[in-house]
Amino acid sequence: MSADRLVARAVNDVIALAPRRGEVSLAGLVAAVGTDRGRPIEVSMSELPPGVSGQWRQYADHDEFQIQDGLPTVDRTLAHELGHLVLGHDGIPVVEIARESTEFASDDLISYMLNQRTGCMGPGGEDVEQQAEDFAALLLHRLGRLRSDRSSIVQVRLGEAFG
Ligand SMILES: [Zn+2]
Repeated sequence: MSADRLVARAVNDVIALAPRRGEVSLAGLVAAVGTDRGRPIEVSMSELPPGVSGQWRQYADHDEFQIQDGLPTVDRTLAHELGHLVLGHDGIPVVEIARESTEFASDDLISYMLNQRTGCMGPGGEDVEQQAEDFAALLLHRLGRLRSDRSSIVQVRLGEAFG
C-alpha cells in the first residue's frame, strides 16, 4: 500500500472512533484511540528543549504526548504525534530515556533526535515525519468538516423548530 493510502486509512480509522453525535474534539479522538488500543494516552504540556514542538514517549502501560508549553500550533503537533502512533512509528521508549538521562538534555542528542522541520523529537527519519505531517493535515481537515457538518445539522434542526 502506498504511503498516501496508508495515511488516509489511518485517518479514517481515527475519525471512525468519533462519537456518533455531539461535539468532536481532537483531545476526544486522542483519548478514543487510547481506549481502542487498550493503552491510555496522556497529553501533557511541558517545557521541552528549545525548538522541540512535541514528542511521543512510550511507557510500559501507556503512551504520553508531550507538547511544548505555549506553542501556537498545539492541535497540529498533537495530531502529528497521534499520526506517529497510529501509523505504527516508534516513539521514545522510556527505558531509553532513563538510561540516557544524563545525556538526554545534551545538545548533541537533541539535534540528533530533533527533526528541525517539524519540531518533532523522535527516532524516526524524514519519511515518517512527512507521513505524520500528512496525517495531521488530513485529520484536522476531516475533523473541521465533521464539526461544521454537525453544527449545520443543529442549525437545520433549530430552523425546523422555529420555522
Ligand atoms: Zn514527528
